[in-house]
Amino acid sequence: MTQQIGVVPVGEVPALVLKVIAANITACYRCPAVVLPKRPVPESAFDDRRNQYDAGIIIEQLGAWNFPACSKIVGITSLDIFIPIFNYAYGYAVQGGDLSMISLFRLNRNADGSLPPPSLFYERTAKVALHELGHLFSLFHCHETQCIMHFSGAITDLDQIPFYLCPDCERRLTP
Ligand SMILES: [Zn+2]
Ligand SMILES: [Zn+2]
Repeated sequence: MTQQIGVVPVGEVPALVLKVIAANITACYRCPAVVLPKRPVPESAFDDRRNQYDAGIIIEQLGAWNFPACSKIVGITSLDIFIPIFNYAYGYAVQGGDLSMISLFRLNRNADGSLPPPSLFYERTAKVALHELGHLFSLFHCHETQCIMHFSGAITDLDQIPFYLCPDCERRLTP
């Protein structure tokens, strides 16, 4: 794969998180990831009934911004995002498309409400980014628990999955 992946902060995102995500993308998918300049959070994405941000609207905005040097984009926000049918989302991707985004909001809390150590928080952000990028590379959810494409509905699920693709998904990825 020779395409370049763009990591785009949408609103305030810690610089180290962006670096960790870019490094993990480069390692897992063997294609270079670059951190791009920060973009503003689109105001129209805020849903005042839910007090959350609509992931679909942010994705649309990512498409409108246009990143000519990158074939795929992972947007990163610290805000709480949702997809209409779910209460919240760790990430969202257009299956087989070019655009995805992830939210850090729920990754910095353990199931019991306590704070994770920073290293675990960084691991989680990298995993969600790798998972959403897998969808952009046309991978679907995987039944194999030792696979980054295994679905994580809760933070404990996310902590169980590894940073890599299972052999089946790896094969599907390579043309
Ligand atoms: Zn998924
Ligand atoms: Zn798999």
